[in-house]
Amino acid sequence: MEFEPVIGLEVHAQLKTETKIFCSCTTAFGNAPNANTCPVCTGMPGVLPVLNKKAVTFAIKAALATHCTIAQESRFDRKNYFYPDLPKGYQISQYAAPIAEHGHLDIETDQTGEKSIGITRIHMEEDAGKLIHDPVRGKSMVDLNRTGVPLIEIVSEPDIRTPAEAGAYLRKLHAILRYIDVCDGNMEQGSFRCDANISLRPRGRDAFGTRTELKNLNSFRHVEKAIQYEIDRQTYVLEQGTSVVQETRLWDPAANKTVSMRGKEQAHDYRYFPDPDLVPLIVDQDWINQVADQMPELPEAKKARFMSDYQLSDYDAQILTADINLANFFESCVKNLSNVKQAANWISTTLLGLLNNRGLDITQSPVSAEDFGTLMGLLESDTITAATAKTVFEEMAVTGADPVAIVKEKGLEQVSDSAEIHSLVDTVLAENPNEVAAFQNGKTKLFSFFMGQIMKKTRGKADPKIVTPVLQSKLASEK
Ligand code: ADP
Ligand code: MG
Ligand code: ZN
Repeated sequence: MEFEPVIGLEVHAQLKTETKIFCSCTTAFGNAPNANTCPVCTGMPGVLPVLNKKAVTFAIKAALATHCTIAQESRFDRKNYFYPDLPKGYQISQYAAPIAEHGHLDIETDQTGEKSIGITRIHMEEDAGKLIHDPVRGKSMVDLNRTGVPLIEIVSEPDIRTPAEAGAYLRKLHAILRYIDVCDGNMEQGSFRCDANISLRPRGRDAFGTRTELKNLNSFRHVEKAIQYEIDRQTYVLEQGTSVVQETRLWDPAANKTVSMRGKEQAHDYRYFPDPDLVPLIVDQDWINQVADQMPELPEAKKARFMSDYQLSDYDAQILTADINLANFFESCVKNLSNVKQAANWISTTLLGLLNNRGLDITQSPVSAEDFGTLMGLLESDTITAATAKTVFEEMAVTGADPVAIVKEKGLEQVSDSAEIHSLVDTVLAENPNEVAAFQNGKTKLFSFFMGQIMKKTRGKADPKIVTPVLQSKLASEK
């Protein structure tokens, strides 16, 4: 029997507010344990939560960017459970009446093409604290700095069918949240976390099978690998004639497999009820309009504009708009250039290659957009050759020096003086009589050998556009 995977994703995104969702403690990351706490977020008796307006504005922004309908009135509920990282014994969340519903996100993958993935709901909630286990002292400690940090949870419909679609959905959602600047997207620090729900059903059947939920997925690659593992595992379970158990599983990146963590709670286990300390949240049309007016250009629109304004290919535009900071880098780099296509290529191969090797993101680039633009300008004006540009770039990446200064100091200007090139070609031909003879006997592939020799003598500075015709005519006339 052939099985079809059914996948739905829940994403928790930490909102970039300065203070927590129900108190004025800072949300700053990395402070001493429990430094960012007060009686409200440590759950002392008698305190009252006060909703952070900016967190609501950010949730509205996310809802608009994912085409959701925003509720005029939503409510906060208590989700009750006991865990040492949850001092109140309940988490304030939205259950029955979330702030937004019925959105969608459009994705594209190589195998399955374009597709729209439904978004069931977006709700607001507070984060829990963090347990730190010390295996040496055999003790567990709790850090409540994260307690009460605002989150939105974005729940997808079970519309996803492959690991690649899940990856595309998450990358797109991640990009959008960074574009609208409501979440820093840092997956290692847990600002953007994903749970994946997976089930299988016989192909052609409507009803869904039993699902498992995967946690601990802190990179896009892990999500894709974990989902593939889970599809294979469930296929095996079903082919054995046994059934999938509804449970929560953890991805173990070191062992490359998922392991059972606990049975899945049902909603009634949480005994949800409306939080009596908070009034219903009213979002009127004026508020929505104000947020809509401040909406920046989103990834799809930017990609379309890059393709029409700069004549970039779909592929290049996709790469350059995947991250808002990269898109901004590109646009400030090409401000004064005419060969934008060339700059786009250099950014997506040479610059991104370097950043990738060093594990940096574009905001940490050792070469500024302005200097990179200057380097591309030198190339465009034929002041330097492509080979020299590569050398200069490498130097810039190490020393951070200005490209014009490097070119001047090292005498790297392109050799385009015609007399100089003629004599260079003569020298190279005189030094290689055997190759010249072979060339004239039809071994025309040797043309690149002569080019190579000339570039070697000039350390890559000879202008190939001038060398080529001179070399061609001299080789022809040597006969
Ligand atoms: P919970 O909050 O208990 O995890 P939800 O009903 O909110 O449950 O669903 C969570 C996610 O699970 C959603 O993204 C949904 O699309 C997905 N989902 C629900 N049923 C299935 C299923 N049978 N197979 C795969 N995913 C599913
Ligand atoms: Mg869930
Ligand atoms: Zn607090």
